[in-house]
Amino acid sequence: MSFGGIAGHETAKQVLTRAILTDRVSHAYLFEGPAHVGKTLTAVAFAKALMCAEPPEPAESCNACAICRAVGRGNHPDFLLLFPTSRLETTDEEGQKAVAEIEGSLIRREAIGQLIDRAYGRAVSARRKVLIVSDAQAMNEEAANHLLKTLEEPPGRTTIILTATSADSLLPTIVSRSQLVRFGPVPLAETQAAMTRAFPGLDSALVRSVAALSGGRPGWARRLLEHPDTLAIRRRLLDRVARLPDQPPLVCMRAAEILIDDAEAWWLATSEGHTARELLKRNRDRVLRTQVGELLDLLVTWFRDLSIAGEEGAEGLLINADRIAELKRAAGRAPNCAAAGAAVSQAKEALRGNANLRLTVEVMLIRVRRALTAAVPGPAFP
Ligand SMILES: [Zn+2]
Repeated sequence: MSFGGIAGHETAKQVLTRAILTDRVSHAYLFEGPAHVGKTLTAVAFAKALMCAEPPEPAESCNACAICRAVGRGNHPDFLLLFPTSRLETTDEEGQKAVAEIEGSLIRREAIGQLIDRAYGRAVSARRKVLIVSDAQAMNEEAANHLLKTLEEPPGRTTIILTATSADSLLPTIVSRSQLVRFGPVPLAETQAAMTRAFPGLDSALVRSVAALSGGRPGWARRLLEHPDTLAIRRRLLDRVARLPDQPPLVCMRAAEILIDDAEAWWLATSEGHTARELLKRNRDRVLRTQVGELLDLLVTWFRDLSIAGEEGAEGLLINADRIAELKRAAGRAPNCAAAGAAVSQAKEALRGNANLRLTVEVMLIRVRRALTAAVPGPAFP
């Protein structure tokens, strides 16, 4: 993908384009912004623009030459894309033990060593070497210190790009040696347009809903639309919550269990099969906490929509645009959806700490059920 194909981030793209046009490309950048917003995508597009053999115009890439294609596949010798991994001990068919690296949570010193070797080695065919450390906050201390030395004495015609959700999560000495480029949420219209281009066959109300649910993170929206299982999980989740008030309180226990099972299904649906299963086996609690958090985000937007759906002219403001009719119907019968939403937000906060996963979800559902069944005062709702 070239710059033109990336949704949003106009300022970031301008800064990077200008750097190429004025031949003032920095030796180190830090792309800071939320997960799934497009930082790594932009870093790779920048790499192509810097390395392309036949740029159609200055500061763009052809996306078709041997270099662009190799960068796209991640296997050009003047390019490197590091991301956090986990180490996995496996046994092959002959019973030999082997260690495999899978997508995970840590960037180790050895990985940074590989980057440094590449930084100081001779360029093979590109005009510039580009080395990307995606989710640089996952570097352990040793790795970060190792990288720092390279940033202090940067090799020529090499650009290192770090991406991170927050500059505060990195060593201040690394941040001060990098040019900061901020990535904010992508506006809804642009996310929606990009998803419509990418998934032309899908229902437009659904695409709009997913774009709105993403909160400006096109990568997150794309992941959902690419994996229809996640959309089914969302549908089931919203259906179950809608039924809660009609059922006895005891149902919350079972509903909590199902929600956690759904969080597991969500994880497996959005990650690469074998790797995802292994990570789940090894870090079950941590994985499920983050995935339950994603489902709770869906609920927060649902109750937010419910609280305004009954108002005149609210239609254009609803995030769950594919369920407008149901939201309007339910709005009159859900007097206390703000309290339900607050219960969900509090549960999400508790899960960021050490709160027990199962218990937190149960208590949340009990509170949600109570909020949604609260007696409605006054004669307005007979
Ligand atoms: Zn090219």
